[in-house]
Formats: sequence, structure tokens, C-alpha cells
Amino acid sequence: MIAIENARLFNALRARTAELGRSVDELQMLSEVGQAVSSTLDLRAVLSTILTRSVGLAGAEAGLIFRYSRPERAFRFVEAAGYTEAMLREVSALDIPENMTGMGEAIARRAPLQIPDLRERAPNPLRDQALAAGFRSVLIVPLVGADRILGTTILQRRATGEFPPETVQHKSQFLANMSHELRTPLNAILGYAELLVDGIYGVMTERPKGVLERIQNNGRHLLALINDVLDLAKIEAGQLTLTLEDYSLPEVVQTVVTATEPLATAKGLKLTAQVQDAMPMAHGDARRVSQVLLNLVGNAIKFTDTGEVEIRGAADRGQFVLEVRDTGPGIADADQERIFGEFQQIDNSNTRQKGGTGLGLAISKRMVEMQGGTISVESALGQGSTFRVVLPVHVDEMMEAAE
Ligand code: ADP
Repeated sequence: MIAIENARLFNALRARTAELGRSVDELQMLSEVGQAVSSTLDLRAVLSTILTRSVGLAGAEAGLIFRYSRPERAFRFVEAAGYTEAMLREVSALDIPENMTGMGEAIARRAPLQIPDLRERAPNPLRDQALAAGFRSVLIVPLVGADRILGTTILQRRATGEFPPETVQHKSQFLANMSHELRTPLNAILGYAELLVDGIYGVMTERPKGVLERIQNNGRHLLALINDVLDLAKIEAGQLTLTLEDYSLPEVVQTVVTATEPLATAKGLKLTAQVQDAMPMAHGDARRVSQVLLNLVGNAIKFTDTGEVEIRGAADRGQFVLEVRDTGPGIADADQERIFGEFQQIDNSNTRQKGGTGLGLAISKRMVEMQGGTISVESALGQGSTFRVVLPVHVDEMMEAAE
């Protein structure tokens, strides 16, 4: 009897322990995910990392980030690296009107400003504070977005003299590294979130599940943004090289159709592809061509609410002509050139509602141009849009070398 009771207790205990173990695992996982999410999404932490790295890369001793406040027409302190508590207190209390320091000049010129010797500048509170802290030379880098001034990064050194030109130009390389470092933990977050949603760590009730789905959506959006920035930074740093091979354009079109069909179907749109018979074999970077086509078809589906999206492919006098036509809202003349620029989106509620980064077309343009091609759009408001890519059938090494 006692033995039976012991066995029952033992089993109950084992079940309870297993259950507890699972809860602990789950809690630990959630806290890890939480930490990773907040460490990646905490803007201040990201800025601080960026600043510390910039200071290191530039061989400087300290650095500052200021944000520009438009209503006050002044710069406000955000973050410092290499500063003592006392220096921090001083610099964070400074009130710096727009045109008082070199920051105003750098912003107005939209270009980095070198100050080889601070002693030669007219006195102002920021200069005086830097001199008192022992700094002699500074580099002011303006942070300018597509349509507004964000602020400045200032790098400071104890020695006099200009910063070497590599410092002023390392932005792309730096962005490429940074994007890579952000992408790795983000992929882990998305991976864990997916496992949690799939119930691998135990069944979840609706509320945490809803929250996890939001983590997933935001995480995916951030990942898309980081991937775009990474591509762009690589292009700028001259690191995006083409991989040239023979490939079949109809096959590329088919892959893109297969990838985007579910999106079109979900929106009730008709997606068709018409590729001319007997297309010549292509020679170029197949992966980049699919990426461009995927982006154009993705946009067409995203911005079109009713009707259809059609892909057309043809070869004409040594060139491929790829077209993506939609029955969406169309693009006004004034916006047609602009949308191929970085971070450029049409400013209307439709675009805002559909989301996106404003980088897809800029990246597509660079990828097409690297292969000696062109990209353009034909459209009018209310008339749908047709994006056209013209590519040499045979992309040769010359074009690659020219980049
Ligand atoms: P994203 O789509 O991520 O915003 P893109 O660079 O791909 O960035 O596109 C830039 C902008 O061009 C979009 O935000 C949108 O305003 C406009 N656009 C692109 N494709 C279309 C289209 N097929 N129909 C209407 N507007 C478009």
C-alpha cells in the first residue's frame, strides 16, 4: 500500500517537475527574446553602439550625437561616447542654436565639416567645452534624412589636424557591418518567435500569441529594412559584385510568379506572365534580375487593390525588355523620377497605409544599371503603372569592371 502510494506520488512529482521545467524553459526563452528584442529595438542603445564604433573606426577619442529640433531651431544633446560624467553633465546642458557652431555649417552644406584646430574657431559654448575637455580637432558629420535634418555626429580628437579621408568616407562600409550585426540577432528573434507560435515550447493562450505575432510582424519589417540598407550599403561600398552566369529569363519569370502568386490571390488580383517564345539564353546575374523583378511585382501587387498585374518578357535587338504592368493607383508625373531615389515614397495615405521602406526601387535601379541596363516607369494617376527594365541579353565583364 505504501509502495503504491509512493509510486503514485513519485509519478505525480515527476509530471509536475516536467511541467515546471517546461514553464521555466518557456519563461527563460521569453525573457531571452524580450531582451534581444529590446536590445535591438532600443534606439538609444543602437545609437550608442553606432557612436562607439564610429569613434573607434575614426581613431578618435570621443564622440557626440545631437538631434536637430526644428521648432526650437536648435541642437539637442542625445548621446556621447568617451565622455566622463562631468563632461557629460556639461555638454548635455548646452543649448545650441542652429547657426552658432560648425553643426549649422555642416547641415547647410549637407557635407562633413573638418575643424583641424578648435582654437582657431570663434568661441561658442560647445567649442569652449571641447577645448576645456582637451579636444583639439573635430569632424562634424551631418545626419540628413530624405526630407529633413535629423542632427549631427561629432567625432573629437586630442591631436590637431584633419581626419584622414577614409574616415569621412567609411559610411558605406560601416553601414554594411552594422546592418549585418543587427541582422544576426534579429534572425534569432524571428526564429524563436516562430517556434513559440508553433507551440514547440507549450501551447499558448490567445493573448501572448497575439503579442508574439506583433513581434513577428515588426521583426519582419525591420529585417526587410535592414536587408535593404545592407544591399544599398554594399552597392555604395563597391562590395556588391555581380555573379555572371548563363540563365533562362523565362525561368526567372516563372520563379517570381510562383513566389508572388499567393500574395496576388490573397488580394483577389489576377497575375499573368507572357513571355515571348524562343527567348535567347541570357548571360548576367540571375539572382539580381529575379530580385529586381520580385520587387516590381511585389510593388504592383502591394499598391493595386483591384484588377490585374501582368509581367511581359521579350527580346529585341540584343536586349531583354521586362515589363510589369498593374491597374493600381498610378504615379503622377512629378513623382516618377523621384521614386527611384533612396527612401523616396509618394507622400499619400495609400503609400503610408501599405508600408515599405522606399528603398526597393533605388536598389533595383542600381542592380539594373550595374548590368548595363535601364529601368523606367510609364504611368498617370488613375491609369495604373508600367515599370520597364531593359537589360543586355549578354552582360559582360566590361560592365562589371566599370562599376
Ligand atoms: P516601398 O515600396 O518599400 O515604399 P519602393 O522604392 O519600392 O519602396 O517604391 C517607392 C514608392 O514608389 C512607393 O512607396 C510608392 O509610393 C511608389 N510605387 C512603387 N511602385 C508602385 C506601383 N506599382 N504603383 C503605385 N505606386 C508605386
